[in-house]
Amino acid sequence: MPIASRKPWMQWPDHGDKQFPVADRTLAINNQGSNRTPFCQLIFTQRQSKLMAIKEGNLEAPKREPLDWQNPQFYDKDSLYTEMERVFDICHGCRRCVSLCNSFPTLFDLVDESSTMEVDGVDRQDYWKVVDNCYLCDLCYLTKCPYVPPHEWNVDFPHLMLRAKAARFRKQGASMRDKVLAATSHLPHMLAFALVHHLSNLNDHEEIFRYAAGGFRDFTRIASSDPVMWRDICIANSDALIDLIEQYQDELDRVKLAISDGDTEELLRLFSRAKSERDSLIGNC
Ligand code: SF4
Ligand code: SF4
Repeated sequence: MPIASRKPWMQWPDHGDKQFPVADRTLAINNQGSNRTPFCQLIFTQRQSKLMAIKEGNLEAPKREPLDWQNPQFYDKDSLYTEMERVFDICHGCRRCVSLCNSFPTLFDLVDESSTMEVDGVDRQDYWKVVDNCYLCDLCYLTKCPYVPPHEWNVDFPHLMLRAKAARFRKQGASMRDKVLAATSHLPHMLAFALVHHLSNLNDHEEIFRYAAGGFRDFTRIASSDPVMWRDICIANSDALIDLIEQYQDELDRVKLAISDGDTEELLRLFSRAKSERDSLIGNC
């Protein structure tokens, strides 16, 4: 639990008769001695019985709220910056995700090198450095964060990064990074979801999945990703994604035609080019 925050979103939540008076919290913080002393330990000495009922984080199953992408406020720069400051400040007080990716170290370095050493000392333009380092893997939401909804702090870091990317896309169009992500991450997810969905509609799908080998498991692993997150990514990046899906459909039509024509030369040309491109650019593992 981040301590000694001055921000309204970090105030002790309302737990009815279990709520600590401000004076008790202030006393606990002022009496820390070392600012590394856990807040809960200080409180424990004062209000043992009440502490037992307070949750440090969210102990309920995460409940992901849909992105409000049709609301004009969703793309409003000031509203976005306000929400980023709120969430960044909670993360700055928590820092649990520092090892997950480059977004969090980027954020914490910006805070630590600012004049106030708080989020309010960071130039808002620099928030985009945090956004740029997020590749929407969803790990911070799925594995780390105790403050995801239904916790009252309502931290959904990947959704916030997605909102920022969508707002920037609406204003500036897709950056090279977004186009690369659409091609290498978003399109493969669509293919994996569509393939598994298609096969699961077949009569003998249980047999098919039972005998699936390693290649099928590798190819479809990403179909186990969070459906809500991927629904929102599709919507936020729909233009780039639809372009790519249409191009991919053309490619499948080419393969289909070559197969139906028995055009072995065309098939060999196509597969050989794909193999040599992948081997030279990614390696043959
Ligand atoms: S979703 Fe973004 S911020 Fe969260 S762990 Fe993945 S890359 Fe990092
Ligand atoms: S996303 Fe959650 S767990 Fe991660 S640093 Fe932010 S508040 Fe902490």
